[in-house]
Amino acid sequence: MQEFLDSNITYLTGVGPRRAEILSKELNINTFRDLLYYFPYKYIDRTRFYRITELDPDLPLVQIKGYIKGYYTEGQGKGKRLVADFNDETGTIKLVWFKGTKWITGNYTPGVEYIVFGKPGVFNGMVNIIHPEIEASEKAAQKISSSLQAQYSTTEKLKNQFVTSKTISKFVGTLLNQIKFRIPDTLPEYLISGNHLMELHEALHKIHFPSNAAEIEKSRYRLKFEELFYIELNLLRFKTNRTRKYKGFVFSSVGEFFNNFYYNNLPFSLTEAQKKVMREIRKDLGSGKQMNRLLQGDVGSGKTLVALMSMLIAIDNGYQACLMAPTEILANQHYETICNMVQGIGINVSLLTGSSKRSRRKTIDESLTDSSLNILIGTHALIEENVRFANLGLVIIDEQHRFGVAQRARLWEKSINPPHVLVMTATPIPRTLAMTLYGDLDVSVIDELPPGRVPIKTMHFTDSERNKVFGFIRNQINEGRQVFVVYPLIQESEKMDYKNLEDGWDTISRVFPAPKYCISIVHGKMTPAEKEASMRLFKEGYANILVATTVIEVGVDIPNASVMVIESAERFGLSQLHQLRGRVGRGADQSYCILMSSDKLSKEAAARIEVMIRTNDGFEIAETDLQLRGPGDIEGTMQSGIPFDLKIASLGKDGQIIEYVRNIAEGILTQDPLLENSRNLILKEGLKRLFSVNQSWSNIG
Ligand code: ADP
Ligand code: MG
Repeated sequence: MQEFLDSNITYLTGVGPRRAEILSKELNINTFRDLLYYFPYKYIDRTRFYRITELDPDLPLVQIKGYIKGYYTEGQGKGKRLVADFNDETGTIKLVWFKGTKWITGNYTPGVEYIVFGKPGVFNGMVNIIHPEIEASEKAAQKISSSLQAQYSTTEKLKNQFVTSKTISKFVGTLLNQIKFRIPDTLPEYLISGNHLMELHEALHKIHFPSNAAEIEKSRYRLKFEELFYIELNLLRFKTNRTRKYKGFVFSSVGEFFNNFYYNNLPFSLTEAQKKVMREIRKDLGSGKQMNRLLQGDVGSGKTLVALMSMLIAIDNGYQACLMAPTEILANQHYETICNMVQGIGINVSLLTGSSKRSRRKTIDESLTDSSLNILIGTHALIEENVRFANLGLVIIDEQHRFGVAQRARLWEKSINPPHVLVMTATPIPRTLAMTLYGDLDVSVIDELPPGRVPIKTMHFTDSERNKVFGFIRNQINEGRQVFVVYPLIQESEKMDYKNLEDGWDTISRVFPAPKYCISIVHGKMTPAEKEASMRLFKEGYANILVATTVIEVGVDIPNASVMVIESAERFGLSQLHQLRGRVGRGADQSYCILMSSDKLSKEAAARIEVMIRTNDGFEIAETDLQLRGPGDIEGTMQSGIPFDLKIASLGKDGQIIEYVRNIAEGILTQDPLLENSRNLILKEGLKRLFSVNQSWSNIG
């Protein structure tokens, strides 16, 4: 039976090699099963007939009943078309064909009652339907087809091969008629009855040929349930296996280093959110299980401090820790911050980046192997093969979206027992999405900013209002504040972007001339040493303005900077805009984010800018981002832990189902971690079928 569903689609009546090829290319339909799982995106009620006088071009697909009065041609050359006047008792419209006209006149006769189906349009003030579907009323009445007609998405190429939504529906119908067996279920009986699900066999019929809205609802729910359930089961399975396989180092005590820091060096009290997260981390570290935790916290929420305190606990228990950042600028900054914070505590901190000198590296290597180095901070130079730790107990990865999975895998190999891993990210992700994107990690959230922050004001100006913006910047500088001006840098148009950056720099240097003003610049084509020098100029307060590409997107902490100007804001994604904005608003003064854009904006760009103005809440922004873009864009499919495209469920919209099925999957794995129980055999097979691709990376935190 399973084999039958795996048959190549060529063997379906009406398909044949040519259509099979294009179905495969355009819709990735290769087998009978693929066709069954190619679900409609909507349904049209074929019981409803419109009267011709009711038609207007704003209506979606409509259905009318009436008679063709006669055919004639209109237009010349390319615009030449066959037209039929079609009327019912209320009026007349035009049916129009540009192609296949012979077939139309040969098959549809004036005077016979037809049902016409299509999207009303308008031409020369007359309502028309271009390339309608036509069916004799008599024939339509004989068919026991359902009243709700499934609509499938197709492509231009498919339509050119006469594979329309209707054709696909016909293929599905043919296939379902050929299936003489009950399609075996992919969920065990206890899940079906326990959750009041439709059986798979029925769901696959009803989703394509429903007789009412309730059936659509039930079949969709069943199929979404199945899709999401397997994704969560798979993620949780890796998590369970990992915990079973690896013992974690036990950091049983909080000792002198931590306490010394906490009581003597901590310059402020922790926020409640920081305390809560520290408790969660401490519990993991002492549990004997290996920690794999994602720490989410909006920009400026104080993740660095959490990182430092976790590292101090590692050191208290005799282990080394490392902190990895995505850029040298950030690694430098972390190094400085942390050195400052641990003054007088008596721990040894080093910095290792791509530009560290040979001699420096040697010292670091030695201090790593003789255990005298406690904390190593750096970029991915840290994961180079020749960096060896004596006893690495904790790895912290900052702003992880810059780190590929493969890079993390190499860290993992740094010790016999995997160290505890804490991944920190400021990219806010809706909770239910995080469950899947980081489904095999535990999640901690810092949902509170340190007190005393004044919310950033966000404003939007178009290019023609530039002088106003310059005036504003001048005032801020006069008040002693500093300003970021950021230009987009997108790989594909790199040349153009650098041109914009240079032009911008020219203009700004003219408007803010030396020696009165000092401007520094940072972009990706500079050497790390040049970047560092420019950053320093700004950080130490000499430069009033920092002109930069998005290299400064992550992490940079300069409390005196109070204005973030984002050029061509329409070209940035929401999370990037939010990240950039987070660079200001860190001091006690009012900060501003100025979004510059061209006068003309796409609807989506306008929506993004609108959200930015409305809220500073990273999670609200993430939710909107999800709605505007869909989760597919937010992380690549492989990154998300799902090696295939979702066919029916949506990570963004089906959060409730995700939560529900995740709980169920968790329960099953608690009782039967290896799915050995005979009643779970189906699940094991399902996982094998769906996730046969190499998934070894899922072991990585
Ligand atoms: P992020 O979460 O974006 O990495 P940082 O760790 O860089 O944020 O912290 C941002 C700023 O907030 C830093 O200047 C830090 O010293 C400060 N900060 C962190 N925690 C607190 C706190 N509990 N109270 C006051 N300020 C804090
Ligand atoms: Mg940070």
